[in-house]
Amino acid sequence: MMNIKGTTKLLGIIGYPIEHSKSPLMQNAAIEVLNLDYVYVPFEVKKEDLETVFKGFQAINLRGFNVTIPHKENVLPLLTKITESAKKIGAVNTVWLTEEGWHGTNTDIDGFIAPLQELNRDWSKIVPLILGAGGASRAVIVGCEELGCEEIRVIGRDLARLEAFKASFAESNLNCSISVDSWDKLTELIPDSELIVNTTPLGMSPNVDISPLTSEQNSLIKESSIVYDLIYTPRPTLFLQEAQKQGAIIVDGSEMLVQQGAIAFEIWTGEKPDVEVMRQALLNK
Ligand code: NAP
Repeated sequence: MMNIKGTTKLLGIIGYPIEHSKSPLMQNAAIEVLNLDYVYVPFEVKKEDLETVFKGFQAINLRGFNVTIPHKENVLPLLTKITESAKKIGAVNTVWLTEEGWHGTNTDIDGFIAPLQELNRDWSKIVPLILGAGGASRAVIVGCEELGCEEIRVIGRDLARLEAFKASFAESNLNCSISVDSWDKLTELIPDSELIVNTTPLGMSPNVDISPLTSEQNSLIKESSIVYDLIYTPRPTLFLQEAQKQGAIIVDGSEMLVQQGAIAFEIWTGEKPDVEVMRQALLNK
C-alpha cells in the first residue's frame, strides 16, 4: 500500500478513455521502491475540458503528467515551451510544471530507440520500413532519424493522407528523406528491409490472429532483419511470431512503454527509476 499523506505530491496521466492505461502500475511501482512521496493517478479528460484541467492541475500544484490518446496534439496550445524533439513530432506525451508554466516533451522517441540501441548496427545503411502513418509512426520516424537512418519508408492505406503525413514533417528539418507507399508495394519492399516496424493496431488484443503481413510476405523477411511491433498486448504478436520463425530479431512494444515512462519519471522527480521494477510491474500485469 502506498503511504499517501499531507505532503504527497501528485503525478498522473490524462487521456480519453484512460481505464486501460498501464502507466499507473509502472509509475507507482517505481515510486514505491524508491520510497518517494509521490502518487501517480489516471484522469479521464475530454478534449473540451483540457484547458480547465490544466488550470486545475496548476492550482493544486500537480507536478507533472503523461498525455495519451487522443490528447498528444491537443495539449500543444496549453504549453509554454516544448522540446525540439516534441516539435519535430508535433505531439507531446510528458508535461511538467515550471515557474513559467507547463513544459512538454515526447519521451516516446527515446522509448522507441532504447531497445534498438542495444543492437550493433550501422543505422546509416538501414532503410526502415514503417507500417502505418498515425501518431506513433511519427515518434518512430523521428527515432529512426535520431539513430542515424538516412532514408525512411512509410506504408499506409491512403496515398493522399500519406502525402499530407509526409508534408507535415516539412518544417521538422529531419536529416533523412521520407518516402510513402501504399500497402500493395509492401511485398516488393520487405526483402530490402533490415528494420520493419508495425505502428498499426493490426494484431493487438483481442484481434490476436491478425498480422499486417501475409504468409507470403512473412517468408520474405530476411534472417538478419529486426522486426519491431509497437503493440505490447499480446507479447509477442502473430507478426513477431512469424518473423521469429524466419530467424529475425524481434522487439515488442513493452520496452518502449517502460522506457518512455522511465524518462518521464526522471523528468518529474529528478530521480532515476528502477527500470526493472517498472518492467516487472508491467509484465506481471
Ligand atoms: P493512430 O494514430 O490511430 O494510428 C494508427 C495507424 O494505423 C494509422 O496510420 C492507421 O491508418 C493504421 N491502421 C489502423 N487500422 C488499420 C488497418 N486495419 N489496416 C491498415 N492500417 C491500419 O494510433 P497510434 O497512436 O499511432 O498507435 C498505433 C499502435 O501503436 C497501437 O497499437 C498502440 O497501442 C501502439 N503504441 C505503442 C506504444 C508503446 O509504448 N509501445 C506507444 C504508442 C502507440 P490510417 O491513417 O489509414 O487510418
